[in-house]
Amino acid sequence: MDWQRDAACADTDDPDLFFPISLNGPGARQVERARAVCRRCPVAVRCAEWARETHQRSGVWGGVSVEPENYGR
Ligand code: SF4
Repeated sequence: MDWQRDAACADTDDPDLFFPISLNGPGARQVERARAVCRRCPVAVRCAEWARETHQRSGVWGGVSVEPENYGR
């Protein structure tokens, strides 16, 4: 978990941004805002790997979709 020290989201004032309540409407806009943070994150690949390895079922990890079947895309 050392990679989290370098996470672009580590100092965010809105951690809920990465856990949208839906993928539609305001939730879709929230996902896009979270993904914008992930795009400038130096540990995005490791983050996505960790989410896949630990079977995360919700949230934006590594800038990929919150849908588990989309991890790694
Ligand atoms: S890829 Fe996104 S969710 Fe993962 S550590 Fe970086 S900013 Fe946070």
